[in-house]
Amino acid sequence: MTCETFKVGEGFAIVCNRGKRWPRCSVPGCDRPAPFLCDFSVSRKKSGTCDAKLCEGHAVAQPSHHRVEPGSTPDRVDFCPPHARHVQGGLPL
Ligand SMILES: [Zn+2]
Ligand SMILES: [Zn+2]
Repeated sequence: MTCETFKVGEGFAIVCNRGKRWPRCSVPGCDRPAPFLCDFSVSRKKSGTCDAKLCEGHAVAQPSHHRVEPGSTPDRVDFCPPHARHVQGGLPL
């Protein structure tokens, strides 16, 4: 567990993270924590997906390709901004 102290007005607030600290967003100029990964298929990558690290603001949620059973949580599929533009507009990468 890691704890960070933030100055709030006259005092301090302590925010503790259990376990995982998110990496920084892969989008240039953005250094927000990135809990999402780009799921775009990239065959030359070992993992098979782009895996760009994405913050909440830069993760572009895609309609899930998986059939979702009633009552289950849909798998979230996110693309990085360049890949989202690619699938939407068919633009070359
Ligand atoms: Zn970002
Ligand atoms: Zn991507």
